[in-house]
Amino acid sequence: MNNSKNILVTGGAGYIGSHTVVDLIQNGFNPIIVDDFRNAQKSSVAGIEEIIGKSIEVREVDVCDRVALKKVFEEFSFSGIIHFAAYKAVGESVESPLSYYRNNIVGLINVLELSIEFNVSNFVFSSSCTVYGEPTDSKVVTENTPIQPANSPYGNTKRIGEEIIEDVIASGVNMKILCLRYFNPVGAHASSLIGELPIGKPNNLLPVVTQCAIGKIPSITVNGNDYDTIDGTCVRDYIHVLDLANAHVKGVEWLAQQENPIVENVNIGTGKGTSVLEVIETFEEISGLKLNWKFGERRAGDVVEIFADVTKSFNLLNWKSNLSARDAIIDSWNWELKLKND
Ligand code: NAD
Repeated sequence: MNNSKNILVTGGAGYIGSHTVVDLIQNGFNPIIVDDFRNAQKSSVAGIEEIIGKSIEVREVDVCDRVALKKVFEEFSFSGIIHFAAYKAVGESVESPLSYYRNNIVGLINVLELSIEFNVSNFVFSSSCTVYGEPTDSKVVTENTPIQPANSPYGNTKRIGEEIIEDVIASGVNMKILCLRYFNPVGAHASSLIGELPIGKPNNLLPVVTQCAIGKIPSITVNGNDYDTIDGTCVRDYIHVLDLANAHVKGVEWLAQQENPIVENVNIGTGKGTSVLEVIETFEEISGLKLNWKFGERRAGDVVEIFADVTKSFNLLNWKSNLSARDAIIDSWNWELKLKND
């Protein structure tokens, strides 16, 4: 096996990680997954293997366990790292801030330290549009839009993560790092063999919609209908997980071409906003089902409207999204139906 193609994918059994692993393999890379399955099921690895038609290397390791993680670096020689492993639920982070700081920050520090020790210079960090908070001047954010104080411990871990990375690069180490600021990942693989597996109550809109339609949850409350948006409901930039996965492949390829230490923050979105109501209506049209939903009060801390300026992702990485929110809704619904049949 050509070691220059070995990519460590922490959190590779998770939602975005599993789709990225598939795309990496389809583009000639050899991903090695490190995941302790705290928020994933073994079936996601089986799903990846069924899609690609071969088995993949998985090490069941907690990235916060530096000793165990080091053994993986000793076992494989990596040309790049994609660091997904982290917690991601805003509400949960408010209730358990320390577990969020421990997992998201200690995990990142361990992976960075071992990258430096083992001379792995190409690194992709999962960041989030949450670092922008509620944009003040324009709803379209560029990478130069000022970062706002985080409105949750989760958001703060992404902001601190980016700052740690800036400091590491400023220290003069030989690393090249991309902080990809994801907008709202949605959808599933078209095969329905992998997708989002929310453990417990889902937080994101689309799993709530599909779980309501399938009967797992009784109803949907749309928080706020009097915002200054197209229809009064919140607007997000929904990025299909397959497009998002491909941004990582383009990112790893771009990093391999860079000769000098560098850090770049890059928005990964579609550049198009879709409202909560539009998602619900599109879902009802696609599925032919009537959802049990109602308007509720505004929810404190909700960002009203945000979408990505995608100029940099195209100019720098030669990446742009191809799939629409509608495509994602179709794939998410097929995935939910598949879960039910299983
Ligand atoms: P996910 O929970 O599906 O995947 C994360 C994976 O990491 C899981 O498989 C989990 O088991 C694993 N993991 C977590 N902590 C670990 C640890 N200490 N050691 C080993 N494995 C561990 O989440 P996702 O949606 O795929 O998100 C991936 C990354 O993208 C996260 O860093 C998340 O914060 C970031 N992100 C996600 C979203 C989103 O809406 N999904 C948006 C912006 C950023």
